[in-house]
Amino acid sequence: MSLSRKVQVGSVPVGGDAPVSIQTMWDRQVDRVDQDLVSAVNNLHAKGCDIIRFALPNIRAVDTLAPLLNSTPMPLVGDIHFDYKIALKAIEAGFHKIRINPGNIGESWKVEEIITAAAHKGTVIRIGANEGSLADSDHSSPESRSTALIEAAERNLELFEKKGFKDIVVSLKSSDIEVTYLSNKEFRKRHDYPLHLGITEAGPLIPAIVKSTIGLSDLLREGIGETIRISISDSPEYEVLTAKELLFNLKLRSGGIRIIGCPKCGRTQFDTHGFLESVREELNTLPVDLTVAVMGCSVNGPGEAKHADLGITGNGKQVLLFRRGEIIRREDICSAKEAFLEELDQLRREFSS
Ligand code: SF4
Repeated sequence: MSLSRKVQVGSVPVGGDAPVSIQTMWDRQVDRVDQDLVSAVNNLHAKGCDIIRFALPNIRAVDTLAPLLNSTPMPLVGDIHFDYKIALKAIEAGFHKIRINPGNIGESWKVEEIITAAAHKGTVIRIGANEGSLADSDHSSPESRSTALIEAAERNLELFEKKGFKDIVVSLKSSDIEVTYLSNKEFRKRHDYPLHLGITEAGPLIPAIVKSTIGLSDLLREGIGETIRISISDSPEYEVLTAKELLFNLKLRSGGIRIIGCPKCGRTQFDTHGFLESVREELNTLPVDLTVAVMGCSVNGPGEAKHADLGITGNGKQVLLFRRGEIIRREDICSAKEAFLEELDQLRREFSS
């Protein structure tokens, strides 16, 4: 598949030869930008998020969120429905991208004003077409539903193309994985705009991960999809970590950690699940590619995980730490976390140098 056009969303390139970027959406109303919000947003960035979107339900929301533009390295996307004045205000405030559905903005002159302002300011516009807003979409075949979704996106694009505006990302959203696959694949054959992929309303954690993985993997493997959001009815952190895991396993992104975790069985001598949870934050924010193993027993632990850069396994009242199958330390279980984090830090320095 040929490369898409590239657009620049703040500091993050989307499309062309840029790596697939990860997005999430903030899941609460924001009353003010305080240190808690800044820390939480930047923590998502440390975990792998590249771009974050905020709902802008009214003009006041733009003013409220504007200070965040200078408090995070992540580009901000403003999500706008119905009122073109909110879009104009977000562009003026410096939001790096806005997401609109031209169909619900109304008269074309309003959309034209948005296009003119965005072109002037260098703001990218994501044009969304959502299957949920198409009439009778549930009663036809996946093929005809995907055709209807593409046609809706193309109708939305007409005005932008007439005005020569090209800083566009397109999304064709459905909660059906087949419709998502067919529509994005066909759209890419017809157009070179970067595509924002996601299965919309994918549900709670486990169904959303399964559905999104099935729905997006084939497209991503075929080189379709320049930015993704895994939609989960849970915290944005899970969206980011799932997207990172998906891209890492598809070898489309580096800078991630591969965790080999034993499921536990009757031989378990170590609380692997509790240990993983206790070091989750350190592992998820590690900026280097590493394979880490957390195993329950010494019978199978070091052997099954011998390719791990760092491993830990239970061994009676002790834990064994190993690198590439070679035991490097023995520690009491009570000092397991401290020893593990020391070795992790040592590896981080080795991999970074
Ligand atoms: S590593 Fe040991 S404890 Fe874990 S599943 Fe394998 S045999 Fe069981």
